[in-house]
Amino acid sequence: MDTSIVYLNGEWLPLSNARISVLDRGFILGDGVYEVIPVYAAEDGRQRRPFRLEQHLARFARSLAKIQLANPFEASSWRILVDEIISANSAENTGHCLVYIQVTRGVAPRAQAFPENVSPTVFMMTMPLNLPDETALEQGVAAVTAPDARWLHCDIKSISLLGNVLMAQYAAEHQASETIQLRDGYLTEGASSNVWIAKEGRLFAPIRNHLILEGIRYALIEELAREAKLIFEARPIKEEELRAADEIMLTSAGREMIAVTRLDGYPVGSGRPGAVFSALHAGYQRAKERE
Ligand code: PMP
Repeated sequence: MDTSIVYLNGEWLPLSNARISVLDRGFILGDGVYEVIPVYAAEDGRQRRPFRLEQHLARFARSLAKIQLANPFEASSWRILVDEIISANSAENTGHCLVYIQVTRGVAPRAQAFPENVSPTVFMMTMPLNLPDETALEQGVAAVTAPDARWLHCDIKSISLLGNVLMAQYAAEHQASETIQLRDGYLTEGASSNVWIAKEGRLFAPIRNHLILEGIRYALIEELAREAKLIFEARPIKEEELRAADEIMLTSAGREMIAVTRLDGYPVGSGRPGAVFSALHAGYQRAKERE
């Protein structure tokens, strides 16, 4: 039984006691958005702090606005709730964790168009944050490619994740850590990560638009690239460029940054994590210390 404490519509209760209606539009229609915030524990395991919380809350507000769902709370109230859920679970979980927030359009008789006078469902929980282990950091991971068959609003952090779920399953069935998606011959993103490539010491990523989720790590990596004096360019990346890259890297809240050293069974560059990865990964660790 999971005794971690969750927040549901104003109540704090053990996860196993949290209940919603089967008519919740999140369940019935996938009508909602979510956010995932990494929380890092200090060495002594006592202090635990969310990383880049402002940016996560701002992206959450943008996702809500894009689906025309009123934000149930101001950023200041979200910050308090995030602090509360971290403290509520501090006995349970003393290591790093992720705070998961989900808001759906609420409970109403099943019909697609928005219901009137319905309160949103607000849910928060914590999940363990299992960062990549030493082997994954030192050797990199395998990825496979597949056509991006998702809709055209991938910038919304929607709970309707079927396209991503199928891609994650595809990776699992191919003994890979991630599926890197291609749309019309151009790189988009992973099932649950942004994708970066390095060529001749320069860093490239797809432009932030409706075809990818703007990861909170996107702006962070831009900052870290500047710090490391790497030239960074956001532009469309052709499939051939992905396959000819010296380095491929993934970023996400849960993985921070990881090198992809095999793509569709072939080695990427030297087949080892490269210099650009090392510089950015080290920068990421310093950013965590600083913040
Ligand atoms: N793209 C997709 C589809 C994702 O699910 C994620 C992870 N949430 C990302 C990119 C990376 O976003 P972030 O850096 O905020 O974790």
